[in-house]
Amino acid sequence: RCPYLQDKEVISVLCLPIVRQNKISGVLYLENTHTADAFQLDRVQTLEIIVSQAAISLENAQMYQDLQDLNKNLEQLVNERTKRLYQANQQLEQTNQDLYTLSTTDGLTQLYNRRYVEEYINDNMQKRQFDLEPMSILMLDVDHFKSINDTFGHSKGDHVLVSVAKTIKQSIDVKDIPARWGGEEFIVICPTSIDAAINNAQLISNNISNLDLLEGANVTVSIGVTPCLQDDTIDNVLSRVDEALYQAKNNGRNQVILKKN
Ligand code: GH3
Ligand code: MG
Ligand code: MG
Repeated sequence: RCPYLQDKEVISVLCLPIVRQNKISGVLYLENTHTADAFQLDRVQTLEIIVSQAAISLENAQMYQDLQDLNKNLEQLVNERTKRLYQANQQLEQTNQDLYTLSTTDGLTQLYNRRYVEEYINDNMQKRQFDLEPMSILMLDVDHFKSINDTFGHSKGDHVLVSVAKTIKQSIDVKDIPARWGGEEFIVICPTSIDAAINNAQLISNNISNLDLLEGANVTVSIGVTPCLQDDTIDNVLSRVDEALYQAKNNGRNQVILKKN
């Protein structure tokens, strides 16, 4: 006898297996301590019906539990995937940002490059009303740079270009945009009136000529300045500032020339 029944005065016992799809999922156990043969056939038949319902209910409960587990796993999986997708997107955005910075930066001086400046001027030509929000441009060329290269060597020349770039940046406001136009030529876009741009140009010119880069010989620059006018195209404004620069060179270099229109 089983330990449970050992101390009990059980007279009748009925065990009905709960079977579903040929598998026993439980047992209905009934006991009676008063009567022998307490579980007659008619009662057993009724119990069998109850047991078959119980089997279905048990199976449903199991299926529900399985479904819950599955949903939970699925949710976890979706969360993980979403997180990884978000991280990948962030990385992609960062890479795109880095690529854009690389494609708009001059390698030697770390200023903006010509491509960025052209894009910026073009954008502003389309959007900006210059009589309400003035914009001015200055173009700068290092004087006699070829002879700096020839006298001190190309890498010293590079060093001068880097120092000139740094000085330009330090001489202007954060809202001004300094760029290397190419070779020993630089451009600064000043989202300001022409007077502020001329002040910038004078300051840049003074600060560069005060640098001590070439064993006592001064580095000087010529600068052309011009405002953007309402009917300007990018070609107009660039050729005007170039003319101003050309005039500064012709007048003997180391000076700032304004060309208003
Ligand atoms: P000017 O006063 O009329 O401007 O005379 P310049 O000698 O400055 O002008 P020029 O156009 O005759 O010479 C420019 C020199 O700049 C020639 C070129 O070899 C040099 N150059 C251009 N890019 C670089 C560079 O990245 N590094 C160095 N070291 N030299 C460069
Ligand atoms: Mg030049
Ligand atoms: Mg030059």
